[in-house]
Order: sequence, then structure tokens, then C-alpha cells
Amino acid sequence: MTEFHYATDADGIATITWDVPGKSMNVMSFDGLRELDACIDKVLSDPAVKGAIITSGKDDFAGGMDLNVLAEMRDQAGDNPAQGIFDGVMSTHQLLRKIERAGMDPKTLKGGKPIVAALPGTAMGIGLELPLACHRIIAADNPKARIGLPEIMVGLFPGGGGTIRLAYKLGAMAASPFLLEGKAQDPQKTKAAGIIDEVVAPDQLLARAKEWVLGAKDADLVKPWDAKGYKVPGGAPYHPAGFMTFVGASAMVHSKTFGVYPAAKALLSAVYEGLQVPFDTALKIEARYFTQLMMNPSSGAMVRSLFVNKQALEKGANRPDVPDERVKKVGVLGAGMMGAGIAYVSANAGIEVVLIDASQEAADKGKAYSTGILDKGIKRKKVTEDKKAQVLGRINATTDYAALEGCDLIIEAVFEDMGVKAEVTKKAEAVIPADAIYASNTSTLPISELAKASARPEQFIGIHFFSPVDKMLLVEIIKGEMTGERAVAKSLDYVRQIRKTPIVVNDARFFYANRCIIPYINEGMRLLKEGAAPALVDNAARLLGFPVGPLQLVDETSLDLGAKIAKATKAAMGNEYPDEAVDEVVFWMVDEGRLGRKSNAGFFDYDEAGKRLGYWQGLADRFERLEDQPELAEVKNRLMMAQVLEAVRALEEGVLEDIREGDVGAVLGWGFAPWSGGPFSWLDILGAGRAVEICDDLEARFGPRFKAPQMLRDMAAKGETFYGRDAKAAA
Ligand code: NAD
Repeated sequence: MTEFHYATDADGIATITWDVPGKSMNVMSFDGLRELDACIDKVLSDPAVKGAIITSGKDDFAGGMDLNVLAEMRDQAGDNPAQGIFDGVMSTHQLLRKIERAGMDPKTLKGGKPIVAALPGTAMGIGLELPLACHRIIAADNPKARIGLPEIMVGLFPGGGGTIRLAYKLGAMAASPFLLEGKAQDPQKTKAAGIIDEVVAPDQLLARAKEWVLGAKDADLVKPWDAKGYKVPGGAPYHPAGFMTFVGASAMVHSKTFGVYPAAKALLSAVYEGLQVPFDTALKIEARYFTQLMMNPSSGAMVRSLFVNKQALEKGANRPDVPDERVKKVGVLGAGMMGAGIAYVSANAGIEVVLIDASQEAADKGKAYSTGILDKGIKRKKVTEDKKAQVLGRINATTDYAALEGCDLIIEAVFEDMGVKAEVTKKAEAVIPADAIYASNTSTLPISELAKASARPEQFIGIHFFSPVDKMLLVEIIKGEMTGERAVAKSLDYVRQIRKTPIVVNDARFFYANRCIIPYINEGMRLLKEGAAPALVDNAARLLGFPVGPLQLVDETSLDLGAKIAKATKAAMGNEYPDEAVDEVVFWMVDEGRLGRKSNAGFFDYDEAGKRLGYWQGLADRFERLEDQPELAEVKNRLMMAQVLEAVRALEEGVLEDIREGDVGAVLGWGFAPWSGGPFSWLDILGAGRAVEICDDLEARFGPRFKAPQMLRDMAAKGETFYGRDAKAAA
């Protein structure tokens, strides 16, 4: 055995220790399941063994199921993947049920052997589903530990009995934050929620577990759902109270997901049906819905983008092969909105920061941003005073460029102006070590142009953050024409240090993310100008699974920013500029003083507290509403195609080099319909042939911006998919 180790002591207690070699966190594999099964058989068959403790050889119990296992289950089953998944899941149920019944007489419920889970730390996913099948769960009092079932976050639901056991244990209402939101908590809170039984001092964990096993009576081993007459807390679905839970939960799920996330709905169905039948049938129902979910292309795409590929990118899938370039001291130039955020995330990751602005007041204000975030953390008990002092102690806010001495990375975030940026590049390079890497956080200026101000263009690169820096998970790394491998490696190592997800793209107007977002919001404004109701535009986007519609998004990012970008783009593109129609909306709004949320007036009206009230009546006065509103399907197609075609063009032009980055970047960068896994996954689900048909139709009616890229046409002709033709990404 390699993942589970079995030992017995003189008192007849078996200890099953989960300790996957070569990993800092246990994850459940096929082998792991087989080994655990063998350990349980030993416990139950050996008359000398009285009971067992299942624990971990690591600081944590387990991080969950290795999601590759699920993909394998599907792929290994050949012609009948659904059967493969169902059988795989049912065999896990049998194992956990064996633990739960522990050899007891099925009629008298007597004679079982006590099995206790002893959790030293974090227990997530199957790492909690396994304990839920044990007779008692004891956790070490480890405030850093997280206990929960996070599957819903990657488009799945707990399929190892966790859904049914938690619903049976807590009732549907109390279980819903853990199942439907993937809420994970520390051991004390998890105990208060009724999920685990005991929290003890870490050094008492195993002793207490053993004590419990030795003292356990037959009745302690019978799960409530196996006892006669068990009533689920809060009432079963046909009970008046239970009924209300499901009415509310269905409405809540639908209002959050608009029906595009299959997992939440399947979960709810599994619980609703599962609570009305005997427990073993309920597990079978859970397995059926889980299989159905796994067969839904959305789930596969979500797992692939949000889990497998996101992790691969974070681990440096596209990192050049150069030695460790982790950052020790970073210089941040410009302490405005972005610089202040960059300083905070860097210092928080343990990196020394020199934060420079033109005046000491501005530099101090930038540092105060960190104070603000840390103070909020203290209020919410997530940060200690000590930690606050350490983080702030790492930020040196100054106007003195000499302080940049010894910085191995510079991130420039001064005004978006070629001249200002060139000047600070020269000033910094006069001080920093000759081998330091210099990055600009520009959103619109070409990296290759900015690099001209540098004496070391191969050490010059773009590191593009999204706002607000401390919340947004994506960082776009941009290679200029001259950028060398070490600059890429350094940027990737830095992004890893600050625990964000990187994508690496080539230098072109608006790089990748903004290049796709701009046509999306522009399409929304075009629709408005043509006379579509603004609610139709924004709601179509939400029905596609976007967190906010394009008009609302413009209000959030501000119309004057839109006007500024439009002016600069027009100046750069001249006669090629395609967005005159949109400018009519943008510049008019700016002239009206409706700059968006920041001026409390945009496409929406706002009250004084900044709460959105509804769409501004002035829109209807200016852009006459069409008597016949466009079909919802057409509005959806226009909004979707505006973005995904841009993503395909970015790939075709070599701006994107890896579709995984295109997908992960879209979901994390601008909330691209997460259920789809990203633009390339979305196109794969739709099929290139159908996508081309839609494009041809839209192009004929709305113009060349919807022309299908040649790449897509070729794929349609050959019946290819993006992931099918890209072995590296598919692997
Ligand atoms: P900002 O105006 O809030 O901050 C710029 C800061 O730079 C100001 O504090 C200013 O005093 C300082 N500064 C100007 N000239 C300087 C000089 N010569 N030396 C030192 N400091 C100087 O702007 P921001 O929104 O933080 O944007 C900064 C950069 O980040 C821009 O290049 C912008 O395009 C880019 N960016 C912005 C966003 C966003 O959402 N705001 C997102 C990504 C990238």
C-alpha cells in the first residue's frame, strides 16, 4: 500500500493513515479508494481489531478527489461513459456504506465496529465525505483548517454521498450554504453547524479518537438515517416546512444561475428526491444525478478550465526553462489605484516593496490602502495585528528613486502616458541592478513601444493587473517583441508568489482580455442605439451566465474611461476604426455628465447611497425604442459572438498561444460565462459548424465584425474542436 497505511496497537485499535507520497495534501485517487477498501476489510475481518481510526499523516486530512479520476472514469468506460461513471460512483458509495454499517447486523443494528475520523486540518470534498460516513468526526482545533464540500465551485456537486449525508444530517435548509455555495469553515464553526462532532487540542487528537473507539456502544454506531423513524431536521419535502425550503431554494438557485449551471439544479433535485426515499436509494439517486452532470459538457468544461487548466497555468505550464526567479524586492512606480493594490498583494505575499509616487502624500495614500484592507481583515478576524504590522513593515512609501536599489522587479503603474512612462523607466533603470526585470501595468500602450525607453528591452515586459487588484485573480503577462525568457519566468514566478493565475500573451492592441471585453460592451451599446430595450441587453448577458450585462459593466468601469479609450483607439487606427456607432452613445453620455456609478448617473439612475434604481429614462428619449424588439436569441448571439470571435482572432494572430490561457483568462478576467469553461470551450460545446452558421447570418445582417475567422471555418469543414485539435491543452 502506498497511500493508506494500516497499523494496529495492543488495545486492538487499527489506525488507517492517509498519506499520499510526494504530495503536500492528500487527494483521493483510484489507488487510494482501493487501498482504503482493503484497510476497511481488514478492520472488519480481523477478530482482534475492536475498531479503527482514520487519520492523515500530513498537517491536513485531504483536499478532495483528484478530479482527473472523474475524467478517467468517463474516458475508461469506452462506449458507455455514463455507465462507467455511475459504476465508479456506486462503488465509492459501497465502500463508504461499508464503513458506516461497520459489519453490524442489518436487523438488530448491533455488533458493528466503531470507526472514527480524526482530522488534523483541512478536510474538503471526499476529505469530508469519508468522515461523514464514519461514526464520529473529531477535528483538531486548528483555526487554519477548512472543512467543507466545495464541488459546486467547479461545476459539480458532492457525489461521494456528501450531498445526501449532509442533507439527511442537517436538513435541506441548514445544509444548503454548504452544498449550494460550497461554504467551508474552520473546525469550531463546522462543529457549531452540526457537521462534525468534537474539536480537541491538536496534540490530543489521536488519544481522544482512541478513547472514543474504546468507549463506543452499539447505539453510537447507528447513523440516524439507519435508525427507525428518523425525521430529517426541517422536514421532508412533502412536509409543509420542507416544502417551503424547496420552493425558496429553487427560486434562489434560479435567480443566481439563470438555469445555465446544471450542478446547482441537479444537486437540488438529488436532495429533493433523496429525502423522500430510503437512504440507500437516496445514494443511488445522488449517483444518477452526478452521472448526468458529469455527462453534461458544461461540467467537463468547468472542471477543465477552473480546476485542471487553472492549476496547470499556476504551476507554470508555459514557463520558460530558466532557474528560479522568485522576487525578493519589488519597486512599484505610481501609488494610485493600481499601484496601491499591487503594493498590497506583494507585501502580503512576503515581498519587500518600495512604493514610489511623485509626492510623499500620494505615496503615503497608496500605502494607506493596505492599512485599510488589513484593518477590514482585523475586523473580520481574518488578520492579526501582528500580521498587519509585518505587511505594512514591508512597504516603504517614498518619492526617492534611490530606494529602488536592490529591486529585482519593477512594476510601473503611473499615468497612462507614453512620455511619463518613458521618464520613470529611465529614472528607475539608473538605480536598479543591471539584471532587474522591468514591467509595465499599462492597459492600452504597446509593450514594444514602451520598451524603447528602456536600455534593456529584453528585460522589459507587461504585467497587466485587473482592478481591484486584491480581488481579481487574473494577471496578464505581455511579451513585447524584444522580451526575453527570463523576464517571462520572473513575471510568472512573481504571479505565483502573489497566488494569482497568469496567462502569457503577445503584444497587440488591448492584449487579450480587454480586446474581447471591449467588443462585448460595444455590442451592448450598439443594440441600445438601434432601439433595443436596455433591460433586454443586460438580461440577455445574464441569461448567458455573465455576472453583469454590458451596460451595467460600462457603468461600473465608467463612461469617461470608455471615451478615453475610444479616442486613443481612433487616433491609432485612423480610417480603420470600426466603432463610430458606439462613440455616439459614449460621447453623448459623457456630455450629459452621465459617467456611470462614480457620478451616480450612467445608463442607470442611482440613489444617494449608490444603489441602482433602474435604467435612465433619457435613454428611451434619445434612442427610440423599436416597436419590434429583437429576439432574445439574437441578442444573446450578438453579445456572445462579439467576444468569442475576438478570442479566436487573438489565437489566429498568435496573440494567444494556448487556448487554455484563452479560456481560463476569460473566466477569471471578465467573468466569461463560467459554466461554459471559456470562449474556446463554449465554441466546442456549440460546434464550429453551428458557430459559422450563426456568424454568416449575423455578418449578412450586421456587418463584417461578425465575419467568421478562417480558423473557425476550417475547423467547421473538418469537424474539429479546439480541444480536439490541441493535444497539449486536451491533456
Ligand atoms: P491613477 O491615476 O490612480 O494612478 C497613477 C499614479 O501615478 C498617481 O498616483 C500619480 O501621482 C502617479 N504618478 C504619475 N506620474 C508619476 C511619476 N512621474 N512618478 C511617480 N508617480 C507618478 O491610475 P491607475 O488607475 O492606478 O492606473 C495606473 C496604470 O495602470 C495605467 O497605466 C493604467 O492604464 C493601468 N491600469 C489601470 C487599470 C484600472 O482599472 N484603473 C487596470 C489595469 C491597468
